[in-house]
Amino acid sequence: MVKVKKWDKQKKKEDWGKYRAEIKGMKYGIAKNIAWAMKKIYGYDKWVVATVLIIAFGDYFRNVILIYTDKYIVELAAGGFGQTRLIAVCLLLFAGNFFFHFIALAAGNYNGYTGFRRLVDHFYGLLMEKSMDTDYENNERMENNNNLNKAREGVMASSRDMVYNLRASIQHTLELFTFSAILSVLDFWLVPIVILPAVAGYYIERHKMLWVWNMADNWQLYERQMEYINSVGKDFSRAKDVRLFGMQEWLEKAFRRSYKERIFWYRQQDAWVFRHNVLQVFVRTAGKLAAYVYVIWLVIHGEIGVGDFVLYFNAIMRLSAAVDAWCGNINGYQWFSKNINYVRAYLETEDRTRRTGGRALPKTTCEMEFRNVSYTYFGAQTPVIQNLSFTLRAGEKLALVGLNGAGKTTIVKLMCGLYDPTEGEILLNGVNIKEYNREEYFGFFSAVFQDSALLAASIAENVTGQTVEKADRARMFECMKKAGIYEKVMSLEKKEETRFGRGVYPDATDFSGGEKQKLVLAKALYKDAPILLLDEPTAALDAIAEQEMYLNYVEFSKGKSSLFISHRLASTRFCDRIMLLEKGAVLECGSHEELMEQGGEYAKLFRIQSSYYEGA
Ligand code: ADP
Repeated sequence: MVKVKKWDKQKKKEDWGKYRAEIKGMKYGIAKNIAWAMKKIYGYDKWVVATVLIIAFGDYFRNVILIYTDKYIVELAAGGFGQTRLIAVCLLLFAGNFFFHFIALAAGNYNGYTGFRRLVDHFYGLLMEKSMDTDYENNERMENNNNLNKAREGVMASSRDMVYNLRASIQHTLELFTFSAILSVLDFWLVPIVILPAVAGYYIERHKMLWVWNMADNWQLYERQMEYINSVGKDFSRAKDVRLFGMQEWLEKAFRRSYKERIFWYRQQDAWVFRHNVLQVFVRTAGKLAAYVYVIWLVIHGEIGVGDFVLYFNAIMRLSAAVDAWCGNINGYQWFSKNINYVRAYLETEDRTRRTGGRALPKTTCEMEFRNVSYTYFGAQTPVIQNLSFTLRAGEKLALVGLNGAGKTTIVKLMCGLYDPTEGEILLNGVNIKEYNREEYFGFFSAVFQDSALLAASIAENVTGQTVEKADRARMFECMKKAGIYEKVMSLEKKEETRFGRGVYPDATDFSGGEKQKLVLAKALYKDAPILLLDEPTAALDAIAEQEMYLNYVEFSKGKSSLFISHRLASTRFCDRIMLLEKGAVLECGSHEELMEQGGEYAKLFRIQSSYYEGA
């Protein structure tokens, strides 16, 4: 027999405290969470709620009818055949049983897997909407992502139980009163004798589950490790590294190591659960047994007839089952409520950006100003951007250069409103950008990020961000030409209808890094926003494509204000002004000629880079 690791007394006390604190600390209580969930469910499908009631009442009536059916059948058998009245009663009871069984089954059919899946998808939908809409900074917060994961997992795991629980507790409440009333007619004391051990069984159940709940920290690490290794196996983008670097064996070993540890804890859990289950059976049976002995004694001594004996015998069994189920439901409700709290915590994540109203955005060219802006990433100690002030003038092409980690990408994200400055302000034509409506403000930027990703959709949909019917195809082709990707797209069998996403569509294609970058550029050009932000747009391009890009850049940015980030200093010659950044602050600023003349850091970096090309 497996020896369960000791749960020491002090820890056990603390665990109970933690458990209670968690239940207490939840923002919303069980009743409020259930009401909230039911309102949501009712909002999307009234029938789910109706079927809950139909099944609860259907099963309740069936169970009551069943114990009377047994009673009359026994009376009929004891008294011989031919008793017309008893036969009629039995037939009526059979018909009633059939009727309620049928409607409960029909309602259950509606509320079966489809109903459950729709319920889960409904919650998933709410979470997805929020995750796509919430402030970008929130997406980067670990705590927030954890809440999202817990909410998704919790909804999947507990939604079916929630609907089941609700109907079960309605049914069992009705049964509790009905069977208690039936037994009270015989002797009131039968009721507590049956109910109390069943309640004790509930506490044993809680003790059992608390251990599982609190010990989870011991195995979550191994589960995460196994999940990670599994994901490496599934991830197409990592497949080549795994093969080329011969990492399969290492990964398999790591998986086996974690698996072994996980199994150890499964064994522990099984042993713990087994002990509690045995104890529960003893406790729950004790009450029922005492009550059975009592009614058997009554029938043997002729105090009650055989028909009534069967009635009370069944009533004891049903009452005990109803209390057990009721207690089980409480655990289920607590669990569901905990998960709904995660859902609500995520849905209620505070968003600081303005979503409604706001100032009208300027129609013409615009000037962006950073005024004493500092920015510290969430959880970081030091600011990445420090007291930064600069202006991107209307129609200007400004280059942002600096070593890796200088803060260039952070500036781009701050400018387009993805991050909110920790200190200072960012102004668009003299107005703090917080005063504009977020969605409209986003519309002001065409951005190409280093890690811009294409979606699993057609090329046309990726470039235009719209369905094919709504897209302006002539403009789309024009932008593809400007970005230097038109010929490549036309060479494909399905041309612009070709899809990306090889893990999603069997006929999908993939592009090289440089080709993807060109497509992302075409997408930015298609958007044709007043401000163009290009973050290392040539990083993946070959020398010819890079040269073309520089030449075309002057044309792309005509009539726009634009920010061009590159660590290749040669590219910045096409810009009006260059800003050299170091540790989040401006080190030098001026035109290429001015900075070269100045002979500072920019001039030094430029000479180092050009020496490679000149072979010096
Ligand atoms: P650059 O674009 O100049 O290479 P970034 O703006 O990407 O630099 O990054 C500046 C610094 O901020 C880096 O030191 C980086 O480690 C840090 N950083 C970037 N993104 C995050 C993030 N999401 N969370 C925490 N730190 C970050």
